[in-house]
Amino acid sequence: MKKIYVIGVGLIGGSLALDIKKLDNSVTIYGVDKSDEHLDLALAENVIDKKATLEDIKEADLVIVSIPVDATVKLLPTILDLVSDDALVIDVGSTKEDICLAVEEHPKRRNFLATHPIAGTEFSGPTAAIYGLFNGKTNIICEVEETTFKLQEKALKMFTDIGMRIRYMKPKSHDKHIAYMSHLSHISSFMLGKTVIEQEKNERDIFDMAGSGFESTVRLAKSSPEMWTPIFEQNKTNVIKTLEEYIQNLTHFKELMEKQDFESINQEMKDTNYIKQILKGIA
Ligand code: NAP
Repeated sequence: MKKIYVIGVGLIGGSLALDIKKLDNSVTIYGVDKSDEHLDLALAENVIDKKATLEDIKEADLVIVSIPVDATVKLLPTILDLVSDDALVIDVGSTKEDICLAVEEHPKRRNFLATHPIAGTEFSGPTAAIYGLFNGKTNIICEVEETTFKLQEKALKMFTDIGMRIRYMKPKSHDKHIAYMSHLSHISSFMLGKTVIEQEKNERDIFDMAGSGFESTVRLAKSSPEMWTPIFEQNKTNVIKTLEEYIQNLTHFKELMEKQDFESINQEMKDTNYIKQILKGIA
């Protein structure tokens, strides 16, 4: 794959570009973005080799679509219209059902592979792009059987070369599970941040008292609202269900506190410590 076009030269697209270029210096990475400033930054930081426009992707061997999921749903059919018959198009969106549905009837559906690399940070834009972001992380691939075998193979080689494990899932299951593992964590972090900001109007106090526990729990509240709003919108049914379960647990905890039932509180926490074993298994 010699000509690689990254549409959306931010954290994920930019980090993929860096890793791919490091593996094979002979590829040319072209950046396409709605933000000219981001394209200039990506060029200055050597995240991309050249700036390009959407029309140029007819030359592409590989197109990586790394823009917010609502924009992906809108743009993906046009991208498939434009690319050559041999090109591979992958998306990296955090939802999968709406994206797969958007191109299910497209004549070039077999050129497309739906992926979700479970890797990221709370930062965005081309300056957030880093080497090695995907090393040791999982990439969830959906509807692999819908992609031409030859293009599947190319994609799998690229992902394993940058150190990723592959898991296959149906788009519906992906969206259901990811609501718990990622979307709920972001909402809980945003609302923790909001609760503290509302109560601690004096920001200096927050800063002085913020320990590593608060810092790590609230980290995701720094994430981009532009990226997360369409994710919550596309996955609203699953996200609402996780929120109901989470709110029930919070309410139960509050009731135990009101009843001063600290034995049960202790037991709740002991039971939840089991998360250590679960996380060790996937680390
Ligand atoms: P990001 O850092 O904000 O980068 C996205 C880039 O795409 C920005 O430069 C943005 O420009 C540009 N853009 C937005 N709409 C566009 C459009 N219609 N056409 C062309 N460019 C457009 O975002 P990211 O974190 O890399 O996320 C990209 C994708 O990866 C999303 O689908 C997200 O769900 C997925 N993902 C994210 C993470 C994570 O942890 N961040 C992890 C896994 C997957 P502006 O900033 O000017 O809008």
